[in-house]
Amino acid sequence: MTSTLERYRKNLIQEGISEETQKKLLNSKVLVMGAGGLGSGVIMNLAALGVGQIKIIDDGIIEPENFNRQLIHKIKNISRAKVISAKDWIQDFNPDIKVELDKIKINELNYFNIIQGYDVIVDCFDSYESKYMLNEIAVRHKKILIHGATKGFSGQVTTIVPDKTGCLSCVIPKPKLFKNQIFAQLSPIVSTIASIQAQEVFKVLAGIGEPLLNKLLVFDGFTSQFKTLGFSKNMACETCSNNEFIFDN
Ligand SMILES: [Zn+2]
Repeated sequence: MTSTLERYRKNLIQEGISEETQKKLLNSKVLVMGAGGLGSGVIMNLAALGVGQIKIIDDGIIEPENFNRQLIHKIKNISRAKVISAKDWIQDFNPDIKVELDKIKINELNYFNIIQGYDVIVDCFDSYESKYMLNEIAVRHKKILIHGATKGFSGQVTTIVPDKTGCLSCVIPKPKLFKNQIFAQLSPIVSTIASIQAQEVFKVLAGIGEPLLNKLLVFDGFTSQFKTLGFSKNMACETCSNNEFIFDN
């Protein structure tokens, strides 16, 4: 353990991070949904922080257009599964981390076994349809969800704790129809948002600092400004509000 902890020496000199805190991280399990741009930044930071077990879910393969922002993948791995490339990156960087992976597109029928044993899920999906589905799954099974999204020069992060905070649908009501829009994705913006997501994971797992609970952090990379917008649980939210009484006879 001494040699393992040596790697984290510059974590441990931070006030509030004891050896116990670091061991807590080393015993933690985090589920990363998506191994693209956000997933790359989240995985790199979680591996550096020393999150002991990381599970990566992505059904995609590496394509040339990924390299403007997806920093863990390599040219030599074009056409290989992103999850395998992500696992290779982690094992080269921090071999102590246990990696699980599944090359699968999650849906309402197959997600249950994937989330078992993981209490923190990081939303690194690129489509809003997948993000809202993940939000519903997290709320239903009381998993902490670190939401992140980017679009061109802007990005956002919030930490959703079921029964304690509002959910993604409370902040931005779920659209009735999802349009298949493709947005620009710029590496510095994606990396910034991914780093903040990893920071949220770190604070939640270590029990330090103030996570973005009922707060949406919005980053405008064009003007380099951060804003934090407060929100509260929407009592009429179709995802997280307990509306059972409506159906009570
Ligand atoms: Zn909600």
